Amino acid sequence: MSKGGIFHPDFKAMPWWWEAWQPKAEPPVDLPARTTVAIMGGGYAGLNAAIELARGGVDCTVMEANDFGFGASTRNGGAVSGGVSLGKGLGGKRRLGDDGAETLADRLLNDSSDSLSLVEDIIRRENIDCFWERSGRFAGAVTRKHYDMLAAKVDQFNQHANAQCMMLPKSLQHQEIDSDFYQGGMLVQRSGKLHPALYYKGLLDAARRHAVRLVSRTRVEAVSGRRGAFRLRTSRGEIAADEVIVATNGYTSDATPQLKRKVIPVASHIIATEELPDGLAKSLIPQGRTISDTPRVLCYYRISPDGKRMLFGGRARFTAVSPEVSAPALHRFMSARFPQLREARVTHAWTGNIAFTFDFLPHMGQVQDGMHYCLGCNGSGVAMMTYLGHQTARKILGGGNRVSAFEELELPGQFGYGGTPWFLPLVGTYYRFRDRLDRFLDR
Ligand SMILES: Cc1cc2nc3c(=O)[nH]c(=O)nc-3n(C[C@H](O)[C@H](O)[C@H](O)COP(=O)(O)OP(=O)(O)OC[C@H]3O[C@@H](n4cnc5c(N)ncnc54)[C@H](O)[C@@H]3O)c2cc1C
Repeated sequence: MSKGGIFHPDFKAMPWWWEAWQPKAEPPVDLPARTTVAIMGGGYAGLNAAIELARGGVDCTVMEANDFGFGASTRNGGAVSGGVSLGKGLGGKRRLGDDGAETLADRLLNDSSDSLSLVEDIIRRENIDCFWERSGRFAGAVTRKHYDMLAAKVDQFNQHANAQCMMLPKSLQHQEIDSDFYQGGMLVQRSGKLHPALYYKGLLDAARRHAVRLVSRTRVEAVSGRRGAFRLRTSRGEIAADEVIVATNGYTSDATPQLKRKVIPVASHIIATEELPDGLAKSLIPQGRTISDTPRVLCYYRISPDGKRMLFGGRARFTAVSPEVSAPALHRFMSARFPQLREARVTHAWTGNIAFTFDFLPHMGQVQDGMHYCLGCNGSGVAMMTYLGHQTARKILGGGNRVSAFEELELPGQFGYGGTPWFLPLVGTYYRFRDRLDRFLDR
């Protein structure tokens, strides 16, 4: 197939999810002169913080720079992890408990497993129709070394994240995936999937029902002051607040320079195929799991909720690029895993920003007294950013909830990094080279 030939004549450069619900211009809401809690960013983190605060009787205002739903929360793959995607960030936290006590890594896993239950509770409580399903996930290992690395984590994941993991050797992987690309992999039964834009719409509806003030097209440009007397300068005037929550993740900007220096925005890309011939999608991933894999330039994919298309994502590039660049790369990655899809044309391609941190872990905390943040999804934030937003609100409300392990971590910076990730194309090139080398050495 020629490069141009992968695009369907009806191709759209927008998330396939937006066919069901998409961000739209709302009638303008006046910015109040003051609010008790001002929330910057209207994604899963900002909305869940707002809903929980409103349920606790606290007046709050969410300011979203664009239309509600602009960010990663309506663009993601919809895979819902219950802890195991904390991945490589856990390594450095393991040493803390050599005496046999529960390590910080264990507590991080434990709390992140709560995030999956929380998503389920919110979907049930707010009656959100978003194709939620405890589908399970298969993590494919691209080399035998990666298989062993996954196997080494099974006990910890099962013990501390109740992940219900087991290894599937290559001889059994066809139960999960009709592909010979992997050297076996890990089945994570306690994980799920949903329709991300419909989950988002459900949260937006819930926020309205709980009388959250939602102010779109209002970019916070600067924050000054202190607890009880913050002032936020916005593109539509000034607002005073007792406390502030920064929930801007991969879109964190100069409005909060102290946080911009600590997160690395990275682009992630997805394509949707045209509707596949009857039975093909089901045959590719027979159990309907979400799939992720282990190269440094990883891919993640699943079948669409209607069972008809492949939704295939990955780091085609680490920066935002046009679909003419990202879609052919993703189509190539997809065809390498599923030669059966070589002729499938692409109907949708899109991009969104995720936020990496220098310790590869999500974070919540305070920049200064009363100015909270929840940031750093590291690519996996449907459940985690829901949890961190909710948890930040619980903290502001006070009361009996225990401190989250994610609050114990200091958000690290890196000498010389000011918030502009000029090095990403180099990292991408290096990662692609290492992936090729790993596979060559594994032969
Ligand atoms: C392509 C892609 C695929 C992904 N796949 C998965 C997946 O399968 N599973 C998973 O768990 N996670 C996935 N993720 C990650 C997940 O989508 C994110 O972690 C999550 O949506 C982040 O939510 P959030 O509320 O923190 O940020 P966002 O949803 O990104 O919202 C942040 C908002 O802040 C706003 N903002 C920024 N600055 C300001 C300002 N100064 N003033 C006001 N507003 C501001 C932005 O406009 C934006 O709308 C994926 C992400 C992408 C991009």
